Amino acid sequence: MIALIDCNNFFASCERLNDPSLQGKPLIVLSGNDGCVIARSNEAKALGIAMGVPFFKIRTLVKKNAVEVCSGNIPFYAQVSRRIMRMIAAEEFPQEVYSIDECFLRVKQTPVLEDWARDLRERIATQVGIPVSIGIAPTKTLAKLTTYFAKHYSGYNGVCILDSEEKRVRALQYYPLEEVWGIGRRNLAKLKKNGIQTIAEFLATPREEIIRLLGILGLHTREELQGKECIPFNEKDVRKSISMSRTLLHEVTSLQQITDCIHLFMNSCCRKLRKEHLAAQHFSIYLASNRFHAEHYVSTYRDVHLDLPSADPLELLPYMNAMLQECFVSGVKYKRLGVYLGDLVPDHCATNLFDVVDRRARERLFAVIDKLDARFGAETVHIASLRPQTLAELSHASYRREVSPSAMEAVEDDAAYISPRFDTSQQ
Ligand SMILES: [Mg+2]
Repeated sequence: MIALIDCNNFFASCERLNDPSLQGKPLIVLSGNDGCVIARSNEAKALGIAMGVPFFKIRTLVKKNAVEVCSGNIPFYAQVSRRIMRMIAAEEFPQEVYSIDECFLRVKQTPVLEDWARDLRERIATQVGIPVSIGIAPTKTLAKLTTYFAKHYSGYNGVCILDSEEKRVRALQYYPLEEVWGIGRRNLAKLKKNGIQTIAEFLATPREEIIRLLGILGLHTREELQGKECIPFNEKDVRKSISMSRTLLHEVTSLQQITDCIHLFMNSCCRKLRKEHLAAQHFSIYLASNRFHAEHYVSTYRDVHLDLPSADPLELLPYMNAMLQECFVSGVKYKRLGVYLGDLVPDHCATNLFDVVDRRARERLFAVIDKLDARFGAETVHIASLRPQTLAELSHASYRREVSPSAMEAVEDDAAYISPRFDTSQQ
């Protein structure tokens, strides 16, 4: 059986964890530069605020209903996520972290499965402070569907298990086709155009017709709904690349400002790679102007293959500067910038006979820098030519809330967590 553990309204719940006074109030979280709504509490959903709606379009509604507004704080949400995922990993079932707020577990079907799920849900709520829904079913697609029931029908109280053929058939009757995992908006349009409106009709469509309309992946979705596992379970999801990009608040024409931002992205990616003991063999940057000004749209990209894999910004800096010199065109108003590091390998592969860098010394240097960053915030120590404040000046987050010490404590990386199954102190 596959269990899906899904955090409810994750970003909104994180904001409530940080500030418990937000409990029970309508709450929305905004994307970078306060552009669009990226999370809503149930109360905000009930007001009809749609996912992805531009903030300026709902300002009146927000004011009228005293909706609480938060600028998204992704680093904090990622920290909360890591805490929850580690807690779930301690259950010792094969785990696939699917996204920042969801993971799959391969669990055994036992008579106490439901008790286990309810207990885990309770522990995440009390020890971290985030509500989750848990759906358990024979396939990933059915687990997604089961979690939908766990979340949307209060009678289930957050946990729903699909453990018989009868339940599977009944669940499919009540489930909207547009909610099926893997169908998506474009596929849905294709199906509807061909007269397929419901799951029953989707299941009754001949195999060849499904392949013609949606390709082999569509067929997999159908078989998964019928209880046959087709989508692989990736226990160890090895990172293949890392990237960071941002749409800036204003258009920028200064090479110095662009360099500052790209540099900051590169540092941030390198920091994450070091944490995961990875190094990149491929490094690229891109610069683009405002895509809504189609007649002047400029988008440039440069990349380099590194002889030795690296996650060291000092080593990447000359490449970055050279690529920027090549890319940058004076007079162009840049709006979107990004960095990509790919072809990742474990960092112990980053050495060869002709290496001229003292890697041991660099390792020690970055161990200290990473420690200072973790304690005092990113870019506490930085290369003198970089001005980390540039990105902040080109970003905008009017509704940003400071993370409280108690919230930080609840999600700290080193927070001691012992699974009760292994906790002998209570015996
Ligand atoms: Mg979720």
